[in-house]
Amino acid sequence: MSIFESPAFDDHEDVRFFCDPVSGLRAIIAIHSTALGPAAGGCRMFPYATEDDAIFDALRLSKGMSYKSALANVPMGGGKSVIIGDPSTDKTQALFEAFGRAVNSFQGGYHTGEDSGTAVQDMDWAAGVSKFIHGTSTEDAGDPSPATSVGVVAGIEAAVRHKLGRDDLQGMIVAIQGVGAVGYGAAEILHQKGARLIVADVNDQAVRECVERFGAEAVSTDQIILADAEVFAPCAFGAGINDETLPRFNCDIIAGSANNQLLEDRHGAALVERGILYAPDYVINAGGIIWISDAMEAAYDPDRATTRLHAIGDTLTAIFQRADQEGRGTNEIADVMAAEKIASVAG
Ligand code: NAD
Repeated sequence: MSIFESPAFDDHEDVRFFCDPVSGLRAIIAIHSTALGPAAGGCRMFPYATEDDAIFDALRLSKGMSYKSALANVPMGGGKSVIIGDPSTDKTQALFEAFGRAVNSFQGGYHTGEDSGTAVQDMDWAAGVSKFIHGTSTEDAGDPSPATSVGVVAGIEAAVRHKLGRDDLQGMIVAIQGVGAVGYGAAEILHQKGARLIVADVNDQAVRECVERFGAEAVSTDQIILADAEVFAPCAFGAGINDETLPRFNCDIIAGSANNQLLEDRHGAALVERGILYAPDYVINAGGIIWISDAMEAAYDPDRATTRLHAIGDTLTAIFQRADQEGRGTNEIADVMAAEKIASVAG
């Protein structure tokens, strides 16, 4: 495949291929933009069927990271690394050390951490040879999930204010699909703010805890999208907004942490037609990157970082207002605003 001709190519600054025959590392690191700061983006490990699939993912995901950082107001650009390999069988210390050396070749222009298929242990190995690895077991900022939960709730509050004209969540019904690290944390905060919860998860124990601790109503994983709720919060998996699910939502707002919630971009416009306000996924779920960037920028200060997390609500409000003015999907407007911000600095 020609990289320049790839549909995922968007004037990326740099795309590098790494091969370490000793450890078996085969990796691609794509840097989309460093206009706003050093590129940042996780390290994904997946047994890609073809090299083209791996290149496509690195190009697509690194652009997504640029957009995410731009709208999160963090001084970072976008990058992403993909390791071609099976996370269940191919992980070794040597492989992640070779990966750490690959990251070093950008001399600080690329920072990374765990992503799907990689874990804290892998980052610890890579961090043994590279100071540009984050989310290790010894970093102060630690697990970003609680920060993501805080950001998601700030986003839900902004959406409720914009769509329903309400300044608080008292009595609002929020249906949460997936009460894992982020969904459970969001449930806890929403409960404190007086929201009523409906939850579903394939993990019965997580559901039981929400019922016992937050008085949540439990429904099956098939029923959750049908819930009669002001807010539907997808916090489990991507592509949940599609032709099949769209007619079935009974909510005013979709606002949750899952990545890539829209199966296709056109589903954002379809939500506008259905009168459902959508909080673009990469904007509302940016809490983790805000948290980590804050820790990189200055000495760890949870209060300062928390203030920055709440700004996610202001960014979403600006997106909602412009989407209304232009009659376009909030996902489209988020992309336009991110691209404008990067271009204003790059130009
Ligand atoms: P997690 O694995 O801790 O939680 C996901 C939960 O969804 C689990 O409890 C799982 O049992 C549940 N689940 C799986 N299939 C389900 C189904 N069919 N119906 C209902 N529940 C189901 O993951 P997480 O870290 O909480 O992340 C949740 C989502 O948010 C993911 O899409 C992730 O990519 C995204 N995200 C997470 C972060 C973060 O900081 N953790 C940041 C940005 C985006």
